[in-house]
Amino acid sequence: MRDTVIPYERDPRRDHHGAPTEELVEELKEKARAAGVLTPHILPDGSHLTQRETAVVLTASGLSPLGPLACNTAAPDEGNMYLLGKVGSPDIQARFLKPLVEGRARSAFFMTEPDGGAGSDPSMMQTRCHQDGNHWVINGRKTFITGAQGAKVGIIMAKSDDGACMFLTDLPHPAIRIDRVPNTIDNSMPGGHATITIDNLRVPADQMLGNSGEGFQYAQVRLSPARLSHCMRWRGACIRAHEIAMDYANRRMAFGKTLIDHEGVGFMLAENMIDLKQSELMIDWCASVLDGGSLGTAESSMAKVAVSEALMRVADRCVQVMGGMGVTADTIVEQVFREIRAFRIYDGPTEVHKWSLAKKIKRDWKAAQAGSGVA
Ligand SMILES: Cc1cc2nc3c(=O)[nH]c(=O)nc-3n(C[C@H](O)[C@H](O)[C@H](O)COP(=O)(O)OP(=O)(O)OC[C@H]3O[C@@H](n4cnc5c(N)ncnc54)[C@H](O)[C@@H]3O)c2cc1C
Repeated sequence: MRDTVIPYERDPRRDHHGAPTEELVEELKEKARAAGVLTPHILPDGSHLTQRETAVVLTASGLSPLGPLACNTAAPDEGNMYLLGKVGSPDIQARFLKPLVEGRARSAFFMTEPDGGAGSDPSMMQTRCHQDGNHWVINGRKTFITGAQGAKVGIIMAKSDDGACMFLTDLPHPAIRIDRVPNTIDNSMPGGHATITIDNLRVPADQMLGNSGEGFQYAQVRLSPARLSHCMRWRGACIRAHEIAMDYANRRMAFGKTLIDHEGVGFMLAENMIDLKQSELMIDWCASVLDGGSLGTAESSMAKVAVSEALMRVADRCVQVMGGMGVTADTIVEQVFREIRAFRIYDGPTEVHKWSLAKKIKRDWKAAQAGSGVA
């Protein structure tokens, strides 16, 4: 990261949303391939590193906003590869997973919807699917679909009469139209976050993951590891932002001494150290729960809230410590601040995780009451 990728941060090849161009990403991937660190979390036999091991690799790749793209550890591909590796049939793995692992294709996950459809509440899904012979026909709209523009593999959630379903499709596809890609606060992800219309998409029946109505169960497989891997990558980015802020505070003078010697600045950096360490421990704890074979739904909710909120504080303090320099694009601190802001929303906003934890508290309390015979 430090020797090869970070020097590319000043490379001007960006699209009109500020994201790295496909050409730049390809060049970076080639370097990673040559160094033997492309898709480092998936081993040649197709097995996955443990979550605790993954944390080491993904945190290192996160040191630069370009790192996950270079090493093929970026969202949403990393989560999609995990899902297909766990539940894809050999045919699906050969056709859709292999090009992703080899870094020859990007993928997108189609869940969220505009017009009052699925958002924080996925059960509001409006995209419909029905079977027609040996095909399924899908109609609906999706929004905030990261990387859909330029992706070659799509994982689409839609509802049949049985419930949620999950499909794989090739992209681009004439039945999948990109309506717009809005400007967003973040810009590390190629393709941005598109709004899409799906118009009579016909998918062969064997491209459904599992059975009709099992879509949310399959989404669960992806859920906790994907939440956690965002924590890992963004913790890497905040470690770097903190290093830059520390360097600034140790060099810059104000009122006759270096900034670090002003208690107000020193305390901000000390609080960063504490937040970064707590984030590391929270990630490690949740990773060991997942490595133990649990789905880790509650644990990954707790980790996602704790880490995203802690990293937001870290990024904000880095900007503050660096004064005017902190808000310029001269360092990655400004970008990390913007990216982490979005992370507090995707993969479940903080409030939704707290709300589902509160529901669990109530459920557990009721179960304990019933067990103890207390009315
Ligand atoms: C950068 C980015 C990338 C994304 N990439 C993808 C992608 O690739 N694929 C995909 O399918 N989706 C993606 N999303 C969408 C993301 O998953 C949704 O934004 C998220 O689930 C929230 O849904 P919403 O935006 O509709 O917010 P809403 O459902 O409108 O909620 C708005 C706010 O209401 C509050 N809220 C909601 N429910 C509760 C509750 N029960 N209790 C308390 N407060 C609550 C929260 O503060 C929440 O932020 C992405 C989003 C962003 C920002």
